[in-house]
Amino acid sequence: MSNQEIVLQAAGVSKSYSDAGRDVEVLKDLDFALHKGEQLAIIGSSGSGKSTLLNILGGLDKPTKGNVIINGHDLHAGSEAKRAKVRNETLGFVYQFHHLLPEFTALENASMPLLMREQSIAEVNEQAKAVLESVGLGERLDHKPAQLSGGERQRVAIARALIGKPAVVLMDEPTGNLDRTTAQSVQELIDNLNQEYDIAFALVTHDPELAHKTGRVLELIDGKLIEKG
Ligand code: ADP
Ligand code: MG
Repeated sequence: MSNQEIVLQAAGVSKSYSDAGRDVEVLKDLDFALHKGEQLAIIGSSGSGKSTLLNILGGLDKPTKGNVIINGHDLHAGSEAKRAKVRNETLGFVYQFHHLLPEFTALENASMPLLMREQSIAEVNEQAKAVLESVGLGERLDHKPAQLSGGERQRVAIARALIGKPAVVLMDEPTGNLDRTTAQSVQELIDNLNQEYDIAFALVTHDPELAHKTGRVLELIDGKLIEKG
């Protein structure tokens, strides 16, 4: 894997929060590389900084120090508009809670990332339909989030993360809010998509079974990532 092209690289990333006038350093001069098509898990105890790290890798939050390079673009340099464009073109993000828009259908929710691009509505609809079919939701296109099960909502969120054909998908506890059987089916889906599309996946998880399946596991301890093999 290490001779593969690097799609996401973090160098010297630190993040401090100030808490009651005191600086708390959550990430400490951390380095990280994700290769093309790689699937890895980030584990760590609650409060160790996993979400903070993923948000920085995904451009949702800024590091106090250091940088993140994705597909050759420095994510945290330049304007907000530039960052939004790089994120839109290279990254997909899946949260523990699906963050779907309740008043929109599965098809519309999955389409969102493409609406920033210059594409016809017919093209967007066609791609959204195809990606929802690939996550097993071809029969649920017109359902709104409230009409879907927990696992189905998370599949729509995954479809939304994939539709823009990103190089990297970041997932923060994607199965953390699901029962065991549903979590397993979402886990199989992630596996299949990783193999089918050659997209790199980095996922944060509490689930030892999910972590074990990914092949490469990193543990966030004391602000640093430790390779677990
Ligand atoms: P994890 O996802 O591993 O549970 P987080 O990244 O959410 O951990 O949080 C890591 C630490 O940073 C925690 O101690 C948390 O309280 C603190 N933290 C996270 N976000 C903020 C914030 N916006 N302001 C202050 N402290 C924060
Ligand atoms: Mg978290």
